[in-house]
Amino acid sequence: MRHMETIIKKIDKNHENTDIIGEAGRILKEGGLVAFPTETVYGLGADALNEDAAKKIYAAKGRPSDNPLIIHITNMKALEKIVSEIPEKAKKVAEKYWPGPLTMIFNKSDIVPYGTTGGLDTVAVRMPVHEIAREVIDAGGGYIAAPSANTSGRPSPTKAEHVAEDLTGRIDMIVDGGPVQIGVESTILDVTVEPPMILRPGAITKEMMEDVIGEVTVDKTLIKPDSKTVPKAPGMKYRHYAPKADLTIIEGPMEKVVEEINRRAKEKTDAGYKVGVIGTEETVDSYLSGDVKCIGTRADETTIAANLFGILREFDDDAVDFIYSESFDTAGIGSAIMNRLLKAAGHHIETLV
Ligand code: AMP
Ligand code: MG
Repeated sequence: MRHMETIIKKIDKNHENTDIIGEAGRILKEGGLVAFPTETVYGLGADALNEDAAKKIYAAKGRPSDNPLIIHITNMKALEKIVSEIPEKAKKVAEKYWPGPLTMIFNKSDIVPYGTTGGLDTVAVRMPVHEIAREVIDAGGGYIAAPSANTSGRPSPTKAEHVAEDLTGRIDMIVDGGPVQIGVESTILDVTVEPPMILRPGAITKEMMEDVIGEVTVDKTLIKPDSKTVPKAPGMKYRHYAPKADLTIIEGPMEKVVEEINRRAKEKTDAGYKVGVIGTEETVDSYLSGDVKCIGTRADETTIAANLFGILREFDDDAVDFIYSESFDTAGIGSAIMNRLLKAAGHHIETLV
């Protein structure tokens, strides 16, 4: 792909940044690519209604062409234009959780090109709450396709530096709005089926949605990933979030986990390998060998979600050979954390009793 100059502009919170937003909007309207922060991860934006622009996203990320894009909007009027109908339950969920870290799958309207939906008759739509994201979307015409702004397969970017690392020279602009808040991608809820089904876990949990619309199911490939069934969200079947090192998750009683990780870390270090350890505030001081990183506190798992992808990237930068990680509860945001961590580990998890 042709090398292009990537403009990087930092937005300051108390802003007088209309010129930066204006420039981002102009690039998007001309069919270019702009990365920008959202509350979940950084997105790589293109005009979703311009098939050629959407195609550039696939080229820049090295993304398989059957992996559809999420269209980002800022208001319900925009939703009406890109979907053929809005189910009652979707309206209720939208009322409660939009704008926010939730994507819903609808039947698409004719104005949405197949280049955006990966050839599907359905379309994924999200309404982010992040102020800079909303300004960029509006400036760019209101319908912005924006997958995570990473090279396909790498951990999603949670700060502008991650985007720059992967996509400098491949996209037109990066809007740097500092680190994101949530750190894992949006929950995906398919509202074209009854009952609605979660295709990807995120910060908006099953329980939170069931409070509003009753029964919600979960794509069974998320629960039992080694089943032969293909995930309903095409992107979920790909190798993802994968660090370069061999990552193993150890679960079980905390004391035994620490002991086992210590044993393995020492064994590999003694054999001359570089080892990374993912611990928590509760345990980091108990680890004795390797490059030990604290991912957050079990007392507030949102801290763990926020640090996960950044830590995986740091281990890539440090070129570690083996990573050992503790395991996390799957309640609340924990289901999203474990979904991403298991994918990063190629589902290599060992249980101590
Ligand atoms: P990303 O934006 O990179 O986090 O990836 C978007 C995710 O949404 C991928 O897993 C896609 O497969 C999924 N997705 C997008 N559009 C659809 C759709 N129409 N039906 C099912 N999944 C979708
Ligand atoms: Mg992604």
